[in-house]
Amino acid sequence: MKALSNYFKSLFLLELFRGLSVTGRYLFRKKVTVQYPEERAPMSPRFRGLHAQRRYENGEERCIACKLCEAVCPALAITIEAEEREDGSRRTTRYDIDLFKCIFCGYCQESCPVDAIVETRIYEYHFENREDAIMTKEKLLAIGDKHEHQIAADIAAQAKYR
Ligand code: SF4
Ligand code: SF4
Repeated sequence: MKALSNYFKSLFLLELFRGLSVTGRYLFRKKVTVQYPEERAPMSPRFRGLHAQRRYENGEERCIACKLCEAVCPALAITIEAEEREDGSRRTTRYDIDLFKCIFCGYCQESCPVDAIVETRIYEYHFENREDAIMTKEKLLAIGDKHEHQIAADIAAQAKYR
């Protein structure tokens, strides 16, 4: 009986018409496909993209080399070396994030007492050499300088969720 039913289904192309009916139902509905990269999907202010280091308005780097981010990082992706300056303040001489190790958990940002290390909305980047995956202090500060306006707005928005 089943074989006979399958025979008639094949003969009258019932499966094909059932599939086409689904296509037809969606043909005139509102389209949900985003035409990337011309169009972008909305993004949360809590998005965890590429990292950045921030500065204060006077240009001084925020990071005080407390090493909390290094201690909390579950992937051991952060390496910090620090020394005391002549004015007695403590600053990093080396701050590296290994993006091959990083799992973008956001713990470094959460742990930072001065909002120095943050994860930005940047997700379009690539490496051409293995060493490019090491985000040095200079690279992190450059990203922070370039995107400070957006970073500050996102941090203010995130405060509402706390
Ligand atoms: S996002 Fe997570 S894994 Fe990546 S550097 Fe920060 S704490 Fe480490
Ligand atoms: S980025 Fe923040 S948590 Fe990490 S060493 Fe600097 S001040 Fe401390």
